[in-house]
Amino acid sequence: GCPGRLLELKGNIRVLCRLRPGTPSSLVSLEPGPSGTVTTCYRGRQRRFRLDWVFSPEASQEEVFRELEPAVLSCLQGYSVCIFTYGQTGTGKTYSMEGPPEDPGIAPRALQSLFQEMGTEGQHRVTLSMVEIYNEAVRDLLAPGPPERLAVRQGPAGQGGIQVAGLTYWDVPDLEMLHQMLSLGRSNRATAATTKNSHSSRSHALVTLTLRTASPPRGPGTAGTLHLVDLAGSERAWKAGAAGPPRGGRDGAQRLREARTINRSLLALGSVMAALRARRPHVPFRDSQLTRLLQPALGPGATAVLLLQISTRPEDLGETVCSLKFAERVG
Ligand code: ADP
Ligand code: MG
Repeated sequence: GCPGRLLELKGNIRVLCRLRPGTPSSLVSLEPGPSGTVTTCYRGRQRRFRLDWVFSPEASQEEVFRELEPAVLSCLQGYSVCIFTYGQTGTGKTYSMEGPPEDPGIAPRALQSLFQEMGTEGQHRVTLSMVEIYNEAVRDLLAPGPPERLAVRQGPAGQGGIQVAGLTYWDVPDLEMLHQMLSLGRSNRATAATTKNSHSSRSHALVTLTLRTASPPRGPGTAGTLHLVDLAGSERAWKAGAAGPPRGGRDGAQRLREARTINRSLLALGSVMAALRARRPHVPFRDSQLTRLLQPALGPGATAVLLLQISTRPEDLGETVCSLKFAERVG
């Protein structure tokens, strides 16, 4: 595969932005394309944010994937790639990452593209694992039994790795098997919750593919990895409760706790990415389970792509500005 423009742009962190379709608003305007901008008008103040790529409002799933494909295929050369969808609940994170069956999103397209590129020669071994992080608890979405909380530990000294005790890794010989495993994982994510949608909006879902070749790869590692991460909704604590500040009672307290752990892990992700971008010696990987798990994947030579999903609705403007500020900090 060709390296593609995405990997040749500055640094290792790309930030792309996609709108949730809906009525455009004069409060959020776009200049789409490479190095595009989003301009917001919030509380009488105009702000312009520049991103590596801004998709036009009608961008298709295929157009979105086209920008990501070079990064995805670089895994076959031994690179490590993380693709995140970030944004407020309801802005299209899961739509972009998974998509409906009739219009698949990044994950199914990435798998298809990888398997196509690998061909049928059997030179690659593909391994899959899938976890969710909910309230800082890590659970295996592909374990045969009911999902249990797993311990995340530092790997053997000197190896710098992370071990998730008891996590299952599955060899996937072909694309069909891979799709089956993914839908199994997805259904485990849903059934683990009392209320499916609200649960999935408060947990991070991580799909990890490891690609090993028989012959040594040209890139930096012995195995390429692709992490596809559908992040929890980024809305602030007071909003996650319901329409207003959390009311008392068990439910309110639970919501507030969830919101805080989500905020903490997204904040940790932002701090890690900002530290990597600035090449700071200390990168605060240990601040959340999310960043601990992704530590091996975010090291030198790795590529991270943040797909920022934003809303154009006037009532979401505060959140939209927060998301853009997050992007500004990491990209
Ligand atoms: P999130 O995962 O960020 O909470 P969803 O992906 O569930 O948001 O999207 C919310 C709703 O908007 C869903 O009904 C989804 O199908 C729809 N949606 C989001 N993005 C698009 C898009 N680009 N085209 C069509 N429908 C979309
Ligand atoms: Mg979602």
